[in-house]
Amino acid sequence: MKVCIVGGGLAGLAAALRLGSRHEVDIYEKRGHLGGCLSSHRVDDFWIEQFYHHCFAEDRQLFSLLSELGLEDRLEWLKGTTGYFAGKTIYPLNTPAEILRYPLLSLTDKAKLALLTLRSSGWDTDTLDTITAEEFIIRELGTRTYESFFEPLMRSKFGDLRNQVSAAWLIGRIAIRSNRGLSGERLGYLKGGFQVLVDALAEAAGRDCTVRLHDPVTGISRESGEWRVNGRRYDAIISTIPPQALRHIGGPDLPPLPYQGAACLALGLDDQVTNGIYWLNMKDPGPYGAVITHTNFVPVERYDGHIVYLASYFTGDLPARADAVMRDHFCRTFGIRDSSIRWERMAVEPLAGPVFTTGYRKLIPAYQAKGFYWAGMFSPSNYPERSMEGSIAAGYAAAAELERAGGEP
Ligand SMILES: Cc1cc2nc3c(=O)[nH]c(=O)nc-3n(C[C@H](O)[C@H](O)[C@H](O)COP(=O)(O)OP(=O)(O)OC[C@H]3O[C@@H](n4cnc5c(N)ncnc54)[C@H](O)[C@@H]3O)c2cc1C
Repeated sequence: MKVCIVGGGLAGLAAALRLGSRHEVDIYEKRGHLGGCLSSHRVDDFWIEQFYHHCFAEDRQLFSLLSELGLEDRLEWLKGTTGYFAGKTIYPLNTPAEILRYPLLSLTDKAKLALLTLRSSGWDTDTLDTITAEEFIIRELGTRTYESFFEPLMRSKFGDLRNQVSAAWLIGRIAIRSNRGLSGERLGYLKGGFQVLVDALAEAAGRDCTVRLHDPVTGISRESGEWRVNGRRYDAIISTIPPQALRHIGGPDLPPLPYQGAACLALGLDDQVTNGIYWLNMKDPGPYGAVITHTNFVPVERYDGHIVYLASYFTGDLPARADAVMRDHFCRTFGIRDSSIRWERMAVEPLAGPVFTTGYRKLIPAYQAKGFYWAGMFSPSNYPERSMEGSIAAGYAAAAELERAGGEP
């Protein structure tokens, strides 16, 4: 079979890896490099992800892919600490003592929150999909807990769309992320950065497939029982870009999914400024929702200094000069001199992931729908959280579905 894969991110590469030895596979990637959202900046002699990345203990497909590619020794487990920035103060929230000391919640609030966490795997997610996280938390735990605990977290993930996100997403996320130790969460990272995975996967998939870089898919049509993609003939198409993006270029009429863009400013700094915390959610409104100090997670000795991400999400167009606005706000808020910023890189991705609004679960496309095969951040394996694991699993699932159906539309 002649198979076209639209997109050379993790999902496209994972599907190509499974199909390449048995079929004639072309991967179309609009950019000049593979990796999609897992791409990295090259700074001096190291790679740093364009968007902060870590993995989780449950990421089984990711770990077996690392073994398959001979990279299992690169995986390391590090402490990922979190905290809140509110009223010009940094509050660490990792140990039970730190949580008890957090002044923006009362003891009763904290006890109710702990109970909700314990109950998080027992809720009926279909019902929760019809109510927003905001309404649900205010109903169950009160306004103060929403505003002082959940809202900053949701702002760091969904920006201005946070009020539309469903309780199903929030509770699903609490259930998978509540497995913490006494001093913080254990998170995985790859020595050398996740670029090592992208390179190895690209090499393995590229052995049997044709990789077409700088080749955006711009036109899809069906003629005499065959697909035409940019004028070339195919028997089957796997799309790793969301339905609304594929529809623009000749894809089918699937309901559009709510999506958001991500803008992430990475800064090289002389010092870290978040009291040793990796992930700092910003409670105060500002042009970014979280300050993520990569080198409070991965040892700083591996780089030429500290690395901080200012992370924000947007819908529509990114505001003008977003990088300068973020940088200025960060310098003012954390008392940083301009001269202590060694380098900076901005990454912007308009399709950085779905927003899990109420009713989202019904919109998730199956791995095969309307004549196409689908694998990406919008796939069932990426709910309730998009992840490397979810995109690898989606790539495998779409490839398996295509084999099973013999490429039939
Ligand atoms: C800010 C951010 C932080 C994240 N942090 C984590 C984390 O800590 N841990 C974790 O597990 N996951 C994380 N993720 C999620 C993870 O990066 C993604 O789930 C995964 O990389 C998505 O892979 P994909 O192939 O599904 O999609 P993408 O990476 O989006 O790949 C799609 C590809 O299609 C290409 N493309 C688009 N249109 C066309 C076209 N017309 N023709 C040809 N090519 C096209 C794009 O250039 C892109 O390369 C994060 C994502 C973001 C955005």
